[in-house]
Amino acid sequence: MNEELSKLVALQELDTELAGFDREAERIRQELVDREKAVKDRAILAEQCREKAAELEQSRHTIKAAGEEAADRIKERQIKMMQVQTSREHQALLKEIEDAKKQIRDTEEQMLHVMEQAEAELNRATELENLYKGETKLLTEAAKKTEEAIRKIEARRAEVLNSRSQLAKEIPDTQIKRYEKLLSKRKGLAVVKILGGVCQGCFMTVPPQQFNQVRKGNDISACPACQRILYYKPDPNHPEVMQPILRPQLEDLYESDGEDDEDELIE
Ligand SMILES: [Zn+2]
Repeated sequence: MNEELSKLVALQELDTELAGFDREAERIRQELVDREKAVKDRAILAEQCREKAAELEQSRHTIKAAGEEAADRIKERQIKMMQVQTSREHQALLKEIEDAKKQIRDTEEQMLHVMEQAEAELNRATELENLYKGETKLLTEAAKKTEEAIRKIEARRAEVLNSRSQLAKEIPDTQIKRYEKLLSKRKGLAVVKILGGVCQGCFMTVPPQQFNQVRKGNDISACPACQRILYYKPDPNHPEVMQPILRPQLEDLYESDGEDDEDELIE
């Protein structure tokens, strides 16, 4: 392969590696951010549960006051009963007393329900707060690990970056400029393999004549569709580049007793 081309191929490999570091560092950072958010959400939820419990407590007071008011009403109507003279008035007061008694029963039921709800909210809040405490501790450890992992990535990145700048110096400026322009315009892929006559950057088939040129590797050739720099590397998994299989002389190796053995050997 043309020396300049092989340097461009190596440069692309380094840039791909560098992009991988960035992605990996970003992934690790994001993981920590997501975890921090999940933990924070627990604290927010706990706070909301406590607020809900306080609201319920407030409404318990309102219900209680309504019950007390009904009790007062009963006392007042009972006093009035002693003064009434007609049966009609008496009946009306009795009805009012019954209604007030029913209201007291209802408020007691409501109060019980509200108290149960408030207790459930407070329990949930405590549960969430405990989780929050435990997770916060773990988070501190996770943050340290993240920092450590990123430090390692950065160190490795610095090494690769160093190799890259060394290599870049060995490639003519015009090629580097072209390469870098492609790199930024073609999603970090400026130099691609050609496989079966197909550009592995845009997956278009290049004309056969150009494919042959790329195979020879004497000069730098660009994909007519995506302009990426093409190179050819023999791929043992691809039929077009497979070395001719030399059919083994089975008789020379051992005595064959059937066709099956022959097939196995060739595979
Ligand atoms: Zn292409």
